This record gives sequence, C-alpha cells and structure tokens, in this order.
Amino acid sequence: MVHFVGAGPGAADLLTVRGMRLLARAGCVIYAGSLVNPALLAYAPAGCTVYNSAEMTLEQVLQAIRDAEAAGVDTVRLHTGDPCLYGAIQEQMDALDALGIPWDDTPGVSSFCAAAAALGAEYTLPGVSQSLIITRMAGRTPVPAGEDLTALASHGCSMVLFLSAGLLDEVQARLLQGAYTPDTPAAIVYKASWPQQKLLRCTLGTLARTAAEAGVRSTALVLVGDFLAQGGYQRSKLYDPAFTTGFREGKA
Ligand code: SAH
Repeated sequence: MVHFVGAGPGAADLLTVRGMRLLARAGCVIYAGSLVNPALLAYAPAGCTVYNSAEMTLEQVLQAIRDAEAAGVDTVRLHTGDPCLYGAIQEQMDALDALGIPWDDTPGVSSFCAAAAALGAEYTLPGVSQSLIITRMAGRTPVPAGEDLTALASHGCSMVLFLSAGLLDEVQARLLQGAYTPDTPAAIVYKASWPQQKLLRCTLGTLARTAAEAGVRSTALVLVGDFLAQGGYQRSKLYDPAFTTGFREGKA
C-alpha cells in the first residue's frame, strides 16, 4: 500500500502525528527532496529504502513502489506542504489505481499556512477580505486563460502565489493592472518554518525590488492584500458580546 503524506512546510515537528506514525512503519520512503526536510527521514525505521524523487520520473517512482509491493512493504510518498497543492499526486493516484495498488492520503500543513503563521496574519479578515486566491504565475506549466493573473487581481482579495518568486517583475506588473495599488501591502516569505526563514514585508509597488535586494528567487511565497495591513478590519461576529450563536446567548 502507498501512503501519500503531507510533509508540512519544512520544520520537522510540523509533520502530523498520523504522518509520523506512517513513516515509522514504512519499508520504502520516496520524498520530494527539493523541498522536504531530510530531517523527517529520521522518523523512518532503519533499513527502510529511501528515494529522492527530485531525481526521478513518474515512471521511476512507480517502479520503486512496485518493487516495495513485491517485497511486501508499505511505501510513504512524502510531498512538501499538503500534497493537494502543486503536488502532482493525481497522476500517481490514477496510475496506482490502474496497477491495482491501494493508496491513501494524509494531509499536511501547507506552506501558505506556515507563511501566514510566520507573519502573524489572517487571510480572511471581516471587512477586508473573505476570500483567498491561491495561484501561480505561468511558467513552464501553463495557467488556463481564464486564470490570468490580471483577471484574478480584479477581485482585490487576499492572494498567495506559489512557484512565482523568480518572476516577480511580471507578477507585480500584472497585479497592478487589477484592483491592487502600489501601496497594497505584500510580503515574500522564504522557507517558512525552516531555520533559514526570511520574512520580507513590502508593498506591491516594491515587491520585485525587495526580493531582488534580498536575493530571493525560489522556495518562497508571495502574499498580497490588505489583510497584511496592520488594522482596518472589523471585529468578528462570532465573539461579539451582542451576537447570538447556537452556543451562546448575545447580550445587547
Ligand atoms: N504542496 C506544497 C507546494 C508545492 S509547490 C505546499 O502545500 O506548500 C512548491 C512551491 O511551494 C515553492 O516554489 C514555493 O512557492 C512554495 N513553498 C513550499 N514550501 C515553502 C516554504 N517552506 N516556504 C515558502 N514557500 C514554500
């Protein structure tokens, strides 16, 4: 059996308890070595076969899994953050279904959550934004036409860009064609939760320059939106003394 496991954003103790238990029973571990912290491999038992998928094709990953199945051991497939975002897991799940190899999926802490935690930020502030757009700049992987960054920027809501830290001149220009302004708060979070973490707060107008001056070109997220302004939001209804909920009677 194959267990897809979200490795979390980097820090070894941001793996879930379930993920750690699955690793402890694995006979084979295939980890995305470009972004998964190798310290997580310490949770795997001695004698476990370890592969770094950064150097492998899908076909080679599947062959490693078949070898593990033939040896009668479970495989843990470790993906950075949560596997459901830019994880290339669908093609693996579909191939395993075709091969008749069972699998399951254990979520992890995505880097966009770790970035907000590092900044002390909430994406969904009442009166500011109640939506988060998770997207990327088109690179070698194209983005469908309807998801062009300028079109998405017309909403002016909270936004996180993955896989785009090397393309910030273009990100900045396209976002400025939408509802954001040069003064819209922005942040670049490099290696969230790793010891090398960098938090670069800036504005959309200074986004590309800020990253260039800090030498950040990869392994970073870009966060944009007024949720990063300190203030300007409304208090929640949920914890308002006058608001009645199913659990609490409000008092005027
Ligand atoms: N599934 C992952 C994303 C994989 S795509 C997740 O849920 O986080 C790889 C991209 O994720 C990187 O280019 C970078 O934009 C982002 N990323 C992954 N880990 C990161 C981290 N610790 N800090 C900042 N960005 C990270």
